Amino acid sequence: MTGLEDLARRREAEAKRIRALLDGGHENRMADLKIGETAVAFVKEELCIGCDQCPLVCDDDAIDMVQRPMRSPLIDMESNRKAVIRRDDCTGCGLCVLACPTDAISMIDR
Ligand code: SF4
Ligand code: SF4
Repeated sequence: MTGLEDLARRREAEAKRIRALLDGGHENRMADLKIGETAVAFVKEELCIGCDQCPLVCDDDAIDMVQRPMRSPLIDMESNRKAVIRRDDCTGCGLCVLACPTDAISMIDR
């Protein structure tokens, strides 16, 4: 039978393994990202689920969350929030791309 200590050891090892995978993935993604003064973030609104992660990581306060009407008149929801980039304030750092769980943000030419 698995003891608690053994379980804790395995859980810690698994957490380290996942952290290393994520860190490696971020480095690879950062290497692929177009970042810097010539780039600006762009949100595909249909992929945005309004989770608030991108405004949290944006140091330049360049992302607004706005309410959008639902496309279908049959769906009556008060909240359909979407992220919108303020292009003039975006410094092209790319952090929001890494934070987005739905890959709704990409970096494009300014
Ligand atoms: S690229 Fe950087 S500055 Fe621009 S919106 Fe994303 S987090 Fe903010
Ligand atoms: S992190 Fe992605 S899904 Fe979440 S609000 Fe920003 S763009 Fe939308």
